[in-house]
Amino acid sequence: MSEVRGLATAGLTKAFGGVVALDGATVEFQHGKVNALIGPNGSGKTTFFNCVTGMIRPDGGQVTYSGRDITGAAPHRIVHAGVGRTFQLCRVFPRMTALDNVLAAVRPAGLTGLLRGARARAEVDRARSWLTRLGIEHLADVEARNMSWGQQKLLELAGVLMSDPETVLLDEPAGGVNPALLDRIGTLVRELNAEGRTFVVVEHNMDLVMSVSDHIVVFDRGRPIAEGPPSLIRSDERVLGAYLGV
Ligand code: ADP
Repeated sequence: MSEVRGLATAGLTKAFGGVVALDGATVEFQHGKVNALIGPNGSGKTTFFNCVTGMIRPDGGQVTYSGRDITGAAPHRIVHAGVGRTFQLCRVFPRMTALDNVLAAVRPAGLTGLLRGARARAEVDRARSWLTRLGIEHLADVEARNMSWGQQKLLELAGVLMSDPETVLLDEPAGGVNPALLDRIGTLVRELNAEGRTFVVVEHNMDLVMSVSDHIVVFDRGRPIAEGPPSLIRSDERVLGAYLGV
């Protein structure tokens, strides 16, 4: 059992039919830091996130959070353990307002009309303050489907932050986002990290990865092949080989 603080895996394996997606992936993320998980398409990053967050059960190996075995636990238990995540294809309720989306993230039936009393008001205040923090408070009463893609991503993140996760997994936060919002996402990650949150970011945008990360783990064929700070990863031959075939 890992005694590492925060998120770690040992020998994680997962195959889909004959396709090996994870091939004994042993990873220790740096707790309290911004970690990036990079690698070519098909290298197992999404499968890794799905195993770690309880979306799919690994065939073998272990997932631990600060020494606690969370392998195969249900997604809500993993959230309860302190790990939140966003999705590559952004999961928001398109016909609900931004405010209701954020509330629904902590209360599945959490439409504002169903909430009562001081606790409910406190939750609404907290939801509004996350919208403000992410710069989308002016959209509180707008349905998610009428928000831009980048705004929807920020909205999804606001929902994740409602459960106050110690560790946040971001699945391609920059994908399809315009450059102005991209800067905001980078700044937010650094700010939230300075306040004590750990991040693990799967991302293809290397400018964002290099500017935001303290520690980079590189996947190839279902397992890590290199790890280190951006300065080291930038010039690692194995990384260049995995990406460029050189
Ligand atoms: P990445 O996120 O790095 O692009 P994935 O985890 O999506 O990698 O995929 C790793 C490998 O597993 C790929 O070969 C992919 O085709 C395969 N794979 C992923 N999910 C499934 C699935 N649900 N069914 C079959 N094959 C899958």
